Amino acid sequence: MTDKPLVAITGASSGIGAATARAFAKDGHPLLLMARRRDRMEELDLPNAHLAEVDVRDRDAVAAAVTAAEERFGPTDVMFANAGIARLGNLFRQDPAEWDESIDINAKGVMNSIHPVMNGMKERRRGTIFMMSSIAGRKIYPDHTVYCGTKFFVHAISESLRAQLAPHDVRVVVLSPGIIETEVLDHVTDPDTLANYRANKQRIEGGISADHVAEMILFAYRMPQNVLIQEMVVTPTRQEY
Ligand code: NDP
Repeated sequence: MTDKPLVAITGASSGIGAATARAFAKDGHPLLLMARRRDRMEELDLPNAHLAEVDVRDRDAVAAAVTAAEERFGPTDVMFANAGIARLGNLFRQDPAEWDESIDINAKGVMNSIHPVMNGMKERRRGTIFMMSSIAGRKIYPDHTVYCGTKFFVHAISESLRAQLAPHDVRVVVLSPGIIETEVLDHVTDPDTLANYRANKQRIEGGISADHVAEMILFAYRMPQNVLIQEMVVTPTRQEY
């Protein structure tokens, strides 16, 4: 067992979420790991980890996972609302079903993830919420229209939530990564969009490791509760835009 507080992560089965889970586990935190692929969370083989096979579109399932983990490990001190997909595509050719999926997971899924913890953090006057946006939540990129929309949404919510939780000493951090080496491109179904993205990525000699993002998250968390790194923008050095 550990005396460190509970860290909850959505999208913990791969990429940035999995890297962050490993970083907090190494630091001795109990974990609530949420994603749809349980086998991938099991493969992480982390100590003191409550695994929940959860789709972030299911608000009740996220809430139930938080309740179950808190019964085991005590109140949630970190919620990393990270789960997301990148259904990039040309707006004029894209199936609007991909718009729905993006909005439901990247935007509404983030709301579903913060909902079960924000009141408790406010009452305890302690806690940190990390919200996963993207550099595409600050700027527009080709064929990123709806993806950008979901990430601009996360930025807007994080600004508002931060202002409302600031008087209660709860921290809200928004993350805006550029190109990170993960499975995120597996979600792109438009071959032209995928080819353009890959060509750009190759031009800048690839993305950076998800472990760097995890390190930054842990760094921000370790700051005293009265110190808030409001936004973290991280890109490969060669990524100009
Ligand atoms: P991955 O594809 O490796 O990870 C995405 C994670 O989200 C997986 O664990 C996946 O788990 C989970 N996920 C997706 N849909 C759902 C769902 N409906 N319910 C629960 N979990 C879900 O990519 P990344 O690590 O790169 O992505 C993590 C976040 O980082 C995303 O929000 C992405 O937009 C953002 N981001 C990524 C960047 C990059 O270049 N990689 C840049 C900027 C932002 P499972 O499939 O098992 O459910």
